[in-house]
Amino acid sequence: MSCHCTDLPETLYLQQAPHGWHHRLLQKTCGQHASLFQCADCEQYWAIDFPRREEPQVVTRISDPDQWQPAGDASRKQLLTHSRGGTTETPCIWAGCGAPTVHQTIYCIDHLYETGARI
Ligand SMILES: [Zn+2]
Ligand SMILES: [Zn+2]
Repeated sequence: MSCHCTDLPETLYLQQAPHGWHHRLLQKTCGQHASLFQCADCEQYWAIDFPRREEPQVVTRISDPDQWQPAGDASRKQLLTHSRGGTTETPCIWAGCGAPTVHQTIYCIDHLYETGARI
C-alpha cells in the first residue's frame, strides 16, 4: 500500500492530507506542542501539532528525528497565504503597514495572522 508521503509538501494542514493518511503513522515521541510520528510504510518522520481551539493542525516533514521542531509561525503564515490564494498588489490597510495584502482580505499576512485567521 502506498502512503502518499513523497507526494506531500514540507508543511500542510492535517485536513488537507489524503484521507486516512495519518492513520498509517506511528507515534514516536510526544513534545510540548506537537508529537513526532513515523510512517509505517516509508519510515518518513512527521511532526503534527496538538489540536488547538479553532486552529487547523499543521503537519511538518521532519528529516532528522533527533532535532525536530513543530511548525512555527513562519510556516503557519506561509500555509495561510497559500490557502487564501497568495498575495495581491493592494497595500494592507493597517496603519503604517502597506505590505501586500493576502488575496480577498484587507490585511497583509502578518496582520491577517494577528486577527487570528488560520486557514
Ligand atoms: Zn510514508
Ligand atoms: Zn499589514
